[in-house]
Amino acid sequence: MIATDVCVIGAGPAGAAAALQLQRLNISCIVVDKAIFPRDKICGDGLSGKVLTALNRIDKSIGERLCQLQEKEDSWGVTFTAPSRDSLDIAYQPDYNPQAKTGIPAGFVCKRINFDNFLVTELKRCPDIQLFEGQSIDNFTLQEDGYLLTDAAGAFSVKAKLVIVANGAHSAFTKEVAGIHMEPQHYCAGIRAYYKGVTGLHADGFIELHFLRSLLPGYFWIFPLPNGEANVGISILSSVVRKRKLNLKKAMQDIVANDPVMKERFKNATLASGIGGYGLPLGSKKRTLSGERYMLTGDAAYLIDPFTGEGIGNALYSGRIAAQQAAACLQANDFRAAIMKKYDDEVYRVLGAELGLSTRIQKLANRTWLFNFLMKTAMRNKQLRELMSCMFYEIDLRKKLTKPSFYMKMLLNRS
Ligand SMILES: Cc1cc2nc3c(=O)[nH]c(=O)nc-3n(C[C@H](O)[C@H](O)[C@H](O)COP(=O)(O)OP(=O)(O)OC[C@H]3O[C@@H](n4cnc5c(N)ncnc54)[C@H](O)[C@@H]3O)c2cc1C
Repeated sequence: MIATDVCVIGAGPAGAAAALQLQRLNISCIVVDKAIFPRDKICGDGLSGKVLTALNRIDKSIGERLCQLQEKEDSWGVTFTAPSRDSLDIAYQPDYNPQAKTGIPAGFVCKRINFDNFLVTELKRCPDIQLFEGQSIDNFTLQEDGYLLTDAAGAFSVKAKLVIVANGAHSAFTKEVAGIHMEPQHYCAGIRAYYKGVTGLHADGFIELHFLRSLLPGYFWIFPLPNGEANVGISILSSVVRKRKLNLKKAMQDIVANDPVMKERFKNATLASGIGGYGLPLGSKKRTLSGERYMLTGDAAYLIDPFTGEGIGNALYSGRIAAQQAAACLQANDFRAAIMKKYDDEVYRVLGAELGLSTRIQKLANRTWLFNFLMKTAMRNKQLRELMSCMFYEIDLRKKLTKPSFYMKMLLNRS
């Protein structure tokens, strides 16, 4: 049996961030992942600006190394397509100039097989992080002085004063210990495939979100990757999938083959992977994320943005916060649930406002007319387009989207 102060279950973005931050706080830890890296993870592969910010906060040199990673596409913005089929390019930065791009792009698209392996390589650079790959943690027993964690056969065991749970959307710990269960109205189903040769991709790597009428409140996406590849997928609320008895794989194949715009763009495209699906646990409901001697992070803590489906940034943020709380607990030698709750408070202090706002915007996205109106107006109105760019950074500006007065002003000023 291995004894440690902190055991991190999972080496995805949440677990890696936790371990890397612990190492920067001079706390050694054990990280256990059931996979052997490099491993794939079903995802849109979109890395928002939050990802770089989070890594820079752990250590600027990690952010610098990510910027140097070859296997990623720079992304300077998003193309939204409304149900009316009006399309609008919104740059991540209001001063974006396609002819004179300067600095670091605000986003990247990077296959998870590469991005997560980048993070694991960072773990391997740290002598105080002991990483076990190909090793699952399946049983968790709370004892007086810590958690006993073992695999199903009981052949591998770790005793830890504190556990950081970072094992993703299907975490058994989340269900069995924290008592958090999947609720279809707070959960999305997503599928993804890689295609080669999709035409009409944006020259500056804009990611594309298509709010097709048949999929609302979900969307179809195309995210450009290096070497002429694209990540293509669908994400939609699980409650809607159930109600409409949707087969997402069929829905996606139908769009690619029959949608009047997409069938042209996919005419010469070839499928470069299988079509895989996975769950997205949404942060549209506040939950208890910790208890005696444990903290849930990333998808295991249901922290995915309910509007955009982004979870990597929030996974990194929560992992880092968990490491900081772990340091405080170890120093005080106090792991009671009441103390661990400071972790919940900090996570929701940092991410709560944005999650709440995205929940409200997610509900608005269901209203086709509102979407079409917003898009049509923005196409004509430069000021509004600039405002939308700023919304990627400014949460207070994004709040405007949920206020009726915002739409009234646009109605009165449609220049
Ligand atoms: C279809 C789809 C599209 C998405 N698109 C995007 C996007 O474009 N951008 C974005 O930001 N987010 C996206 N997300 C969300 C994103 O994938 C997650 O939020 C993110 O991966 C969460 O990171 P994590 O570290 O919490 O979990 P994960 O990345 O799932 O990592 C969990 C790790 O735990 C390990 N593990 C699991 N069980 C055990 C066990 N019992 N013992 C040991 N190890 C275990 C796994 O092997 C894995 O390595 C998407 C999700 C889906 C499903």
